[in-house]
Amino acid sequence: MAEDEPQYASRVKIHPQRIAGAFRRLKWLVLAAIMVLYYGLPWLRWDRGPGTPNQAILADMTGRRLFFFEIEIWPQEIYYLTGLLIAGAVALFLITALAGRVWCGFTCPQTIWTDLFMLVERWVEGDRNKRLKLDQAPFSLNKLWRRTVKHSIWLLIALVTGGAWIMYFVDAPTVTVDFFTGQASSTIYGFTALFTATTYVLAGLAREQVCTYMCPWPRFQGAMFDEHSLIITYEAWRGEPRGKAREKVKDQLGDCVDCSLCVNVCPTGIDIRDGQQMQCIGCALCIDACNSIMKKLDRPPNLIAYDSIANMNARAEGQPTSTRLLRPRIIAYSVSLLLILGLMTYGLSARSNLEINLQRDRSPLFVTLSDGNIRNGYTLKILNMERRDRVFRLSIEKLPETFISVIGYEKEGAPAVDLPVKADSVGTFRVFVRVPPDRLNAASTDMEFMLRDLENGDVADQHTFFYGPKQ
Ligand code: SF4
Ligand code: SF4
Repeated sequence: MAEDEPQYASRVKIHPQRIAGAFRRLKWLVLAAIMVLYYGLPWLRWDRGPGTPNQAILADMTGRRLFFFEIEIWPQEIYYLTGLLIAGAVALFLITALAGRVWCGFTCPQTIWTDLFMLVERWVEGDRNKRLKLDQAPFSLNKLWRRTVKHSIWLLIALVTGGAWIMYFVDAPTVTVDFFTGQASSTIYGFTALFTATTYVLAGLAREQVCTYMCPWPRFQGAMFDEHSLIITYEAWRGEPRGKAREKVKDQLGDCVDCSLCVNVCPTGIDIRDGQQMQCIGCALCIDACNSIMKKLDRPPNLIAYDSIANMNARAEGQPTSTRLLRPRIIAYSVSLLLILGLMTYGLSARSNLEINLQRDRSPLFVTLSDGNIRNGYTLKILNMERRDRVFRLSIEKLPETFISVIGYEKEGAPAVDLPVKADSVGTFRVFVRVPPDRLNAASTDMEFMLRDLENGDVADQHTFFYGPKQ
């Protein structure tokens, strides 16, 4: 780069032109489905019995639980969420390796809401040429009312979008009433304002800049592609040399008539004929655009197409094309995804409604009592994941002649202690285990905390060590 060359260029506002076609219809369908799901899901009810939220999908912040239909995730089980995120990432790798940036072009919230905002813009200000003229026109009443209406509708959509996001964290019907009657907390109003502003800025003002400059995904999604991945391709072998239709001299020009429609419809303002670019979100609107021109000119479709580099090269050389789904990376992603989902499903189906969490005292490791016995201290947490109060019998296994005392329950020490834990809660207990010194034959001895539900016999255990003086 030359020293005097500026390193900053102002953004050129992009005014994509309206285009009809198969991919545009598919994009509207996906947009409608995602809108229905996003705005509708918080209103879906799910009966979990008395005293529990009846919202099908809820990240209950006050109750510190995640509810997804019949599944309930406790804070201690947050690894399921991690697993879900990893599965989502691997699924994204797999889809990208198979079909390019379909996530970006069809389902990413940034694309969906930008599409919606652009639709409003087109309704209010007209298609590309009218918008370009309006942009350049001096201030007038016409410009004022169009801009006012556009931004008002954008703000309204942003408010509904931000508000709907809040409903995934609090009961939807309750928070809606509270919100409009002024009874919601300042946190609710604050977060709604934040998400409204975020939606308005990202989908209305920043648009393609989010994909080009802010999102990390375009920067490394190229690593998931291979020559058999489907991407948006310009079949240059067929299109070049380009030239206006009227200038076409048989056998001298390619099929591209240089009409620029593919550039005009592009939401990121690029020219796909320049080859694959990071800015291309794979929305396929340039395919619709070019196909409409090819149809008018009675030429074969798919000069711009969903194609793989391998097939494009094969076509250019007149070779037969092929679809290779079973490639090493596809197999690796699929196996990893199945493994993660399989492990999560097994974990969820086999998980117990009872869990122990044990922390031993580290300082001091042990205490020698006046009667010569050795004592270790522990903090025991019992997770009762059932909706009934339960009583658990705590005993020690593997180390004989132990006596347990629990602060508030058994002061003198006994071989076993009964501990009550309220329904759907965590019971925390300070536990001391006492052992005669002649029972210890090493500085640390294996032992197990054993917990048994006195009503249904459910058991949970936790291995630990008992520490004493060096033998
Ligand atoms: S080049 Fe085509 S597929 Fe890529 S973003 Fe532009 S219109 Fe969409
Ligand atoms: S729409 Fe098709 S014909 Fe028109 S410029 Fe683009 S590639 Fe060429």
